[in-house]
Amino acid sequence: MAIIEVRGLRKTYGSTVAVDGIDLEVDEGEIFGILGPNGSGKTTTVECIAGLRKPDAGAVRVAGFDPVRNRDSTTKLVGVQLQRAGLPAKQTVREAISLYASVYDDPIDGVALADRLGLGPKLDTRYGNLSGGQQQRLAITLALVGRPRVALLDELSTGLDPRSRREVWDIVDETRDAGTTIVLVTHFMEEARHLCDRLAVIDQGRITALDTPEGVIGGIGAPTVMSFATTIPVDTPLLEGVSGVAAVRRRDDGRVELSLTDEAVLPVLQVLADRGVHPDRLRIVDATLDDAFLDLTSREGQE
Ligand code: ADP
Ligand code: MG
Repeated sequence: MAIIEVRGLRKTYGSTVAVDGIDLEVDEGEIFGILGPNGSGKTTTVECIAGLRKPDAGAVRVAGFDPVRNRDSTTKLVGVQLQRAGLPAKQTVREAISLYASVYDDPIDGVALADRLGLGPKLDTRYGNLSGGQQQRLAITLALVGRPRVALLDELSTGLDPRSRREVWDIVDETRDAGTTIVLVTHFMEEARHLCDRLAVIDQGRITALDTPEGVIGGIGAPTVMSFATTIPVDTPLLEGVSGVAAVRRRDDGRVELSLTDEAVLPVLQVLADRGVHPDRLRIVDATLDDAFLDLTSREGQE
C-alpha cells in the first residue's frame, strides 16, 4: 500500500523550473531512493513531501494527509533530515535530541542512537561547534528519533567517512525493519544499490527511470560494458557505427571501453578482427548503476 503519493508535482522558483511534473508512489515499508545530478529537483521534491514547500501544481499525500494543509499531523508522522538542518548554533546535541523527541508520542532512545553514530563524546557540545560530519550525524539522529512512519533523508551520507557511512546503512536497514518507510536522496550509486528497494532517477525536474536497481540498469539502452586492451589504434567512429553500440571511450588506463547491447558484442568483435585488432584481456560485464545513471541523466547538472 502506498504511504506516499505524489501526482503531477510541479514547483518553480521565479523562472527556474525545479520540479516539472513528478509522479511517484512509495509503498509502506520500502526504502525508496531518489538519484539525480545537482540541481535536478531532489531536495525540492523531498521538501514538498515534508510539507515544507507548497507545490505550484499537483498533489502530495503522506498517509492520506496533505502535508501543507495538515501540517501538524504530518509533522508527527514524518522525520526529516534536510541538507541544510539549520539548528540554533548554541543548542547542544543533547538539547536538540530531547527537543525533537518531545514532539513525538513514542520516541526511541536518541542518545543511544547518537552514541552509535559516534556522537557520544559530543552530547554537550553546541551545534555550532560540531564539524560538518557531526552535524550530519546529528541530523540523521533527529530524523529518526521520533520513530516516524516515514523518514525523509536528503543526502544521507554526503560528507561521512566510509566507516560512518556503513553504520548509517545499518541504521537505515534496522529502522526500516522496525517499520519506518524511508525515502533517501543519494549521490552514491553503491549506497542506492545496497539499500534501496526501488529508485527514481530524476533529471531536470523529471523522472527518467523508476524501478528496482536491477530494473533501472536493465532498462537502459546499453546494459553491457565491453573493454579490452590493444596496442593498435582503434577506429572509434567505426565502432560507434555498429548497431547497438551506445558509446566508445578510451579509459585512463588505456583500455578501450564500449557501452552496448548484448546483440552488438559479436559484430564488434568481427569489426575488430577485420581491422586486425586483437583485443587483449577482453572483458564483457553487466553495466552498473553508475553506467545507468550516466545514461539516464544529462551531462551537466543545472547548477
Ligand atoms: P537538487 O536537490 O537535486 O540539487 P534542488 O531541488 O535543490 O535540486 O534545486 C532544483 C533547482 O531549483 C535548482 O536549479 C536550484 O538552483 C533551484 N532552487 C532550489 N531552491 C531554490 C530557492 N529557494 N530559490 C531559488 N531557486 C532554488
Ligand atoms: Mg539537494
